Amino acid sequence: MQPIFFDLDHTLWDFETNSQNTISDLLEGFKDKIPIPLSRQDFFSVYTRMNEACWDLYRKKQITQEELRIKRFKETFEVFGISYSPWQQDFAKEYLAECPRKGTLMPGALETLEVLSQYYRIFLITNGFESVQKTKLFHADIEQYISGMITSETAGCTKPDKKIFDCAIQKSGTQSPINWYIGDDYDTDVRGGTAAGMKAVFYNPARKANPDGYTEIQSLMELIPLLEVSEALNL
Ligand SMILES: [Mg+2]
Repeated sequence: MQPIFFDLDHTLWDFETNSQNTISDLLEGFKDKIPIPLSRQDFFSVYTRMNEACWDLYRKKQITQEELRIKRFKETFEVFGISYSPWQQDFAKEYLAECPRKGTLMPGALETLEVLSQYYRIFLITNGFESVQKTKLFHADIEQYISGMITSETAGCTKPDKKIFDCAIQKSGTQSPINWYIGDDYDTDVRGGTAAGMKAVFYNPARKANPDGYTEIQSLMELIPLLEVSEALNL
């Protein structure tokens, strides 16, 4: 069977919902340590910004994995006037342990994997840590659909670096000139995948801008007719 490649976070695994639920649990669990009441919604929205900024620094190799894990929370608490205290280390550690254990998938992800796994070997290409991503697959109960996973940790580089896509193609053992890749991020997945020679599909449920007009879907289930069409046309 031919391989097909997917991004994991925000494409198959519902990062937003799982992260939000984890933070909700943690704010409740740490309420005796947190000096002022915090709105879950406000905290999560600040955290989302801080997390993205920290990942950006990590990608530029300006901070380490360890620094990223604490910095994103330390800076979020600071926005609410809560200065650093050692319990924030525990908060950060528990987030890391608990979030990947949440199992919410994006709408239609399970059904799509069920159908596509009958026709394709499914591989993941993900900017993430190996053990964390494996935990997600286990708790979301989708391991059985996945033939292989290439993380930025094992590839030694992050998307959109061509090397990680090459690594995935090599791991799949395919000789096919057409390799489908589905991801939610315009730059790292769609532009990066296309530049690496893949047939990238923009999973874009939020209908963000797609200025270069890449193939786009709003729902994962749209892949099923899309791929059948491509087979019929022998693309
Ligand atoms: Mg993603």
